[in-house]
This record gives sequence, C-alpha cells and structure tokens, in this order.
Amino acid sequence: MSATSALRIALIYPELLGTYGDGGNALILQARSDWRGQPAEVVPVPAGQPLPSDCDVYLLGGGEDEPQALAAAGVRSGDLAGAVAGGAVVLAVCAGLQVIGTRFPGTDGHLHDGAGLVDLDTAPGTPRVVGDLVVQPRPETGLPLLYGYENHSGRTTLGEGVCALGGVRRGLGNGAGQRDERGRGYEGVWAPTGRGLVVGSYLHGPVLAQNPHLADLLLEAVCPDLPVADPHDPRLVRADSAAATLRAARARQTRVR
Ligand code: GLN
Repeated sequence: MSATSALRIALIYPELLGTYGDGGNALILQARSDWRGQPAEVVPVPAGQPLPSDCDVYLLGGGEDEPQALAAAGVRSGDLAGAVAGGAVVLAVCAGLQVIGTRFPGTDGHLHDGAGLVDLDTAPGTPRVVGDLVVQPRPETGLPLLYGYENHSGRTTLGEGVCALGGVRRGLGNGAGQRDERGRGYEGVWAPTGRGLVVGSYLHGPVLAQNPHLADLLLEAVCPDLPVADPHDPRLVRADSAAATLRAARARQTRVR
C-alpha cells in the first residue's frame, strides 16, 4: 500500500461470520493503525457481495455451520489468493480458518469445499470443544502467549509443510492429533504466502482485542512503514502483566464438553 492512502480492512460477510464479536478485530486494527498515524478504514463486505480485490487486510470470523457454508461459497468465488500474493494479510478465525482450507463439515454431514487458500482440512469431531485457549506462538512470530476462547466441533489437519500459528498450552486448538516437537497440539495456521501473510486461529475474544501484539504484527506485515508505536501513548500500551494474570486465571477453568 502507498504511504498516503488509507489502510483498507475488509470485514468479510459479518452477518455470516460474526459470532462472538469477531468483527471487533476490524475495529482494533483500525484504531491501532490510526493511533500510529496511518489512517485506516473498515470495508464491510455484506453477504452476497463479491470480495473486493483492493483491500490490505481481509478478516473472516467465526460462524455456525450453515452460515459458514454460505460464506464459503462467496469466498470461493473471490480471489483471496491473488490479494495475498500481492501483499494482503488475512486473519481467519474459527469458521474462517476452516473456510480458507480445502474442506470443512456442514450441518448435513457432508464435507463442503473451502476456498483452498491454505492446505488444511477440517473434519467433524466430538465432543464440541468449549473453553479457554492459550497458545504458545511459533518463535519466528516474536509474539508472547496468545489468549482467547474456542467453541468448535471441527478438527483441523494441516497439510504437509504447512506451519501452525503455535502450540497449545491450554485447550484443544486444531485438535486433529498433530503435535510439535514438544508434544503440544497445533493451533491455527501461519502461512507467509507470496508478498502477503495468512494467519488462522481458533481464538475468539475478539483475538486482536485480547492480543494487541498480534494486531500490531498484522499491521506491520501489511504496512512496513507504519510509524513506531509511541511507548508513552496510553492507548498503545500492551498491558501484558495485568492482562496475563487475569487470563491465566481464566485459562485454569478450561473445559472440554
Ligand atoms: N462451525 C464450526 C465448528 O463448529 C466453527 C464454529 C465457530 O466458528 N465458532 O467447528
């Protein structure tokens, strides 16, 4: 993107992919970009509309099975892969993560086609997992622990050579049995692609409100000239210690049912 134009943040099909306030991810990115001197606008993409090709960030949130299948049809007909190859960033949460893969289960028991942006597929699973989720991000992200909660029945398998966002410290995450070298289950996906980046996760929260470091990583990936955060600006403070204490307490209550 050019240094003078506004950062464009596409919020894809919020009526279909908007459970648990995931649309808040757009507001967080917009605010943190604005606060650092880069104007940003949220571009809602209503269900039924084609995906815009000129956005810098594309956000897909969580959704119930039926809306998720409708959303996938729209995403499949767009050119998300082209946008990412050209430098866009995608953040896909829960149903969004499943939609950007190759297949995911629908209410009818059949598998639906995903957008195929990343080589991952999701199968039905039981029990539905509901609870807090704590993720140790892969080291090259430079991110601290990520926190949020998960609510899904799908189990996601990453394709050969596809990297997870991190390892699960609490909760289930992708849940398909794949493990890292420390024996931790995988969570989400981390896929630098072309000049862009695709990040997927089961973390709701909204995840970027809970984890401002991740919001800043996405902004800096798409906007390398973003002015450095002013450490004295209270709006940009990433209050790790207080938040971590609270979140660790919540994480202890993790349950699977
Ligand atoms: N419908 C999907 C599942 O249950 C995703 C749920 C969600 O987005 N919270 O696996």
